[in-house]
Amino acid sequence: VISGESQLGDQIPATDRALRPQTLTEFVGQEAAKGNLRIFIEAAKGRGEALDHVLLFGPPGLGKTTLAQIIARELGVNFRATSGPVLNKPGDLAAILTNLEANDVLFIDEIHRLSSNVEEILYPAMEDHVLDLVIGEGPSARSIRIDLAPFTLVAATTRAGMLATPLRDRFGIPIRLEFYTPAELRHVLLHGARKMGAPLSEDGADEIAKRARGTPRVAGRLLRRVRDFATADGAAVIDRKAAGLALARLEVDELGLDSLDRRYLRALIEHYGGGPAGVETIAYAIAEARDAVEDVIEPYLMQQGFIQRTPRGRVACGKAYLHLGLTPPAAPPG
Ligand code: ADP
Repeated sequence: VISGESQLGDQIPATDRALRPQTLTEFVGQEAAKGNLRIFIEAAKGRGEALDHVLLFGPPGLGKTTLAQIIARELGVNFRATSGPVLNKPGDLAAILTNLEANDVLFIDEIHRLSSNVEEILYPAMEDHVLDLVIGEGPSARSIRIDLAPFTLVAATTRAGMLATPLRDRFGIPIRLEFYTPAELRHVLLHGARKMGAPLSEDGADEIAKRARGTPRVAGRLLRRVRDFATADGAAVIDRKAAGLALARLEVDELGLDSLDRRYLRALIEHYGGGPAGVETIAYAIAEARDAVEDVIEPYLMQQGFIQRTPRGRVACGKAYLHLGLTPPAAPPG
């Protein structure tokens, strides 16, 4: 199934990169975050200082990497990117930090996967722009202190809750990215289609937008697949009908749930009586990694009111039963 498998950690195609918005003005939605960022960026630029450290959190595909790049561009500084799992040793991070120029942006994706020994050298770097390194081992070991250029750490995570409090507290600008409205996604789609040269009509854009799980990355992917089907069918324009037919073939339903979402709901309802069931249990039942279930599947199902998170586990709401054509239990759970 195309929609299910590609949703989990797909590579970014070249066209996707070309579609990335380049400025805050081009970046659709997230109005509150953008408004604040604009003020903080102007203030930092005016003072000639590094912007305070920024933490971006929210589900995958909502624009964290894009926003990090835009921040660097708006500040007029270099952008360096790495990610938590890649930084194995303190030396890996030290090498990057010592190469930064004044006020540069360092982007660390998946910061919640940083190992604790790397995290420890990050603290003084963030706070005092110094690097404390231990040279050698045993009795001859000594520590040296290196001064760093002031820099801005922009970190992204799908799980703000998994960050150690001392790390979370060091970000002066925490920003939570929200799911996009269909109207915002429509804008993203029409703009993207124009850049791609795809003949997307306004009602075609609406059809894809309302079925894109509130996520620009999903909207972009659906647009590319819908365009493939339209080309194969010889359709001159991608209108509501053409989009609807293609989405049906991609198994994306009327409410934008894909086969993976429906498998999750079915497992919860049919195997576990609608819950409460632990996330580990459900992930096992649908043969997906727990992280993928928590990062990709659940946030949207929760936001749309299909499931609820309770202290004892996940619970299916009435809407989930009705969507699958099942009868909700008499006393609604939760
Ligand atoms: P994340 O880092 O949160 O996983 P990305 O920044 O990689 O998400 O964005 C995923 C895709 O969606 C990119 O192709 C990007 O161009 C597009 N995108 C994300 N946010 C927006 C937005 N606000 N406006 C337009 N396109 C966006």
